[in-house]
Amino acid sequence: MPPPLEPETYLRHFVSAADAAGFKVMEYGLAGNLPLLAAERQPDAPPCMAIYLSAGIHGNEPAGPLALLSLISQGWYDPGIAWHVLPLLNPRGMAAGTRESPDGLDLNRDFREGLAAETRAHREWLARMAWRYDAALSLHEDWEASGFYLYEMHEPKMPRPGVAILQAVEPLTGLDHSTVIDGFPAQNGLLRPHADVSLETVAQWPEQLYLRAHHTTLSLTFETPTALPIELRVRAQTVAIKTAVNQLLAPRMENSYEI
Ligand SMILES: [Zn+2]
Repeated sequence: MPPPLEPETYLRHFVSAADAAGFKVMEYGLAGNLPLLAAERQPDAPPCMAIYLSAGIHGNEPAGPLALLSLISQGWYDPGIAWHVLPLLNPRGMAAGTRESPDGLDLNRDFREGLAAETRAHREWLARMAWRYDAALSLHEDWEASGFYLYEMHEPKMPRPGVAILQAVEPLTGLDHSTVIDGFPAQNGLLRPHADVSLETVAQWPEQLYLRAHHTTLSLTFETPTALPIELRVRAQTVAIKTAVNQLLAPRMENSYEI
């Protein structure tokens, strides 16, 4: 089965769309001969917030990278926000159509140890940029999911856009109503892992746990069900991202806050 995304072509399209949208594209490392790219855009005036978006850490999950390309091609990214967009964290995995890197490493369990060159370059770039994000969003897919679900981690009294995102995506993909997903308790597609534990007790850190520990106050991970057609999954990811950002820009609704 050919991979659904050819990374060199994808990255070429992403770079030209990012250029056209006024983003600066940085190469923060190499994975084999494929570049690890981050796009940045800051407003001229002080930004109202900073948002981080990443995708493609698992090479067999193409909807996230395609959603980020779609949004940058649409010129959707709000000009008042400072953005970091990392479209394809595991380009070699994408080339092979595998979850892991060719070294057999799950990059999304590697953020504490840093065994993979991709992870080390990513962590070093984050440290060099030294941004604090108002929200960090990571885009994933799940072969076992019966519908969309998401992980939400946040500091107390911060906006909680998770429920609004689930409501917005439900008409497209349905929700995964399992009560346990990936070993965590779930309620109508909402997972709030690690809420009551010290992060230090978690052995293998995913990207979002690292971001939560060092760079963001709100962490969101979206999961689209891989069994559905790719167009629908890309649309679900874009709707989820747009809803999250709209909620953050207008956090007036009482039920989006933890009281
Ligand atoms: Zn994934």
